[in-house]
Amino acid sequence: MLEDLTPMYDTVNTCKAIERVREHPDSNEKDVELIQQYLDDPKWGNYALATALAKKGIRVHKDSIIRHREKRCPCWRR
Ligand SMILES: [Zn+2]
Repeated sequence: MLEDLTPMYDTVNTCKAIERVREHPDSNEKDVELIQQYLDDPKWGNYALATALAKKGIRVHKDSIIRHREKRCPCWRR
């Protein structure tokens, strides 16, 4: 009965911080590059970045940003 169990590792296969930018109808590859730069930039606090994105209509939870910065998202597994 347990045949269909899959580990979290496989089900969480997107980085929410970057994926949310990519999903936005008005975003382009430049925006995806920019979000990666902002995520790498220590001047951007987790909450400040989440808030700034929310103002652009992109809902990224600060936990997703922290996850990326702590290298706990799929970006670092490639
Ligand atoms: Zn990531």
